[in-house]
Amino acid sequence: MKFLFYPAPAHGHVNPMLPLFQELVSRGDEVVVHVTREFEEVVRHTGASLRLLDDRLTLPASMAGGANGPVLGKVMPRLLGLMRQGMLQTPRMAEQARAERADCIVYDPMAMWGRAIAGMLELPKAIFHTSFALSHSPTLKREMRKTMKSLPPPRALLSILELMWTSEVLHWRQGVPRVGLGTAFQSVEDLNLIPVPRTYQPDAGNFDERFLFIGPSVLPRNDRGDFPLEQLDGKPVLLISLGTTPMNQRPDFYKACFEAFRDTRWQVVMACGKGTDPATLGPIPSNILVRQRVPQLDVLARARVFVTHGGMNSTMEGLWHGVPLAVFPQFGDQPLNASRVSELGLGHTLSPRDALDPKALRDIVERLDTDPGYRQRLAGFQKELRDAGGHRRAADALQQYASARQGARRKAA
Ligand code: UDP
Repeated sequence: MKFLFYPAPAHGHVNPMLPLFQELVSRGDEVVVHVTREFEEVVRHTGASLRLLDDRLTLPASMAGGANGPVLGKVMPRLLGLMRQGMLQTPRMAEQARAERADCIVYDPMAMWGRAIAGMLELPKAIFHTSFALSHSPTLKREMRKTMKSLPPPRALLSILELMWTSEVLHWRQGVPRVGLGTAFQSVEDLNLIPVPRTYQPDAGNFDERFLFIGPSVLPRNDRGDFPLEQLDGKPVLLISLGTTPMNQRPDFYKACFEAFRDTRWQVVMACGKGTDPATLGPIPSNILVRQRVPQLDVLARARVFVTHGGMNSTMEGLWHGVPLAVFPQFGDQPLNASRVSELGLGHTLSPRDALDPKALRDIVERLDTDPGYRQRLAGFQKELRDAGGHRRAADALQQYASARQGARRKAA
């Protein structure tokens, strides 16, 4: 069987699919992944084939001037511009996809071009979400509306209009399906793979059998590089990371962490992201290891507490390792993860005030480590994460779905 995959070209979107690629390849299927050059190595490592997307679709890992204030206003127009670029290339990419003669197409709704191509091809289609399922959850829709209550900045608004106009023109001239921004998170196909366990999904009872809550797939990534893991041996490790997007450019927060944890029992590992040069953060306390990127899974396997932005992958990876989370959400689905983690008693939501107050931050981390209730609840949740089935269940479902559709098409022909 041959599968075409269209993830959004970002770590948080490619990482969760890698174990699935590997699983399908190990079962003898052909997996073709459309992604930017940045992910060439990790994708090839799974045994999948690669079709390189235009370099213009590469997401920025940092934004100039990010140290001087919030970057969301700068990131949004870039993201929207990138989506527009992807849409402009859709007719050409759809031709290439047709020539692949595949059996099934799997897309991440955030890769707008994947969504449009799926609409143009007469193929069985499946969705791989990289966050909660939104379509049938009034709770999540309400929460999302709350976090988006203000109007986007003018430059972002202009980029939204440009994107909508491009989609409209492509629709009329070349028959490319319209792919509205608002509907991105709400797309539904006959098979939808969701990377969280059912108990973690708000309003789970509203989702029918088309939705498969497969939970995360956490496999070794072989990305240790020259990181000195042995320095963590026998020490209480605290991991601090705000993820991989330019929203991690928070020198104010990193400096508050220095103050909170200098001269304490903690061995801190801090991933400050590609947009922040550790040298600009001032003197680094001797018990804090700062890198722009760290081998997160290896560090989590040794960590006692994780201070995270609450990206879906980081959240699931922390919980998978049974580590209590202090969630300092920045944007998107991160506030939703922060609420869910707190509701389920698996961690604590950091308000912007607490996150920047060294004493409050230290006290919260200390409580997460020493209150036995957190680890008890985490042990129960770890079982649910493993029982959800991950990449193996996803591969079973995709194979069955594609072959059932193929059978039905043959019958009809
Ligand atoms: N990650 C990593 N090292 C780092 C920071 C992040 O390996 O220093 C990985 C992390 O394990 C996760 C992904 O990058 O798989 C980040 O995805 P997430 O959804 O948590 O956040 P995003 O970066 O998309 O905001």
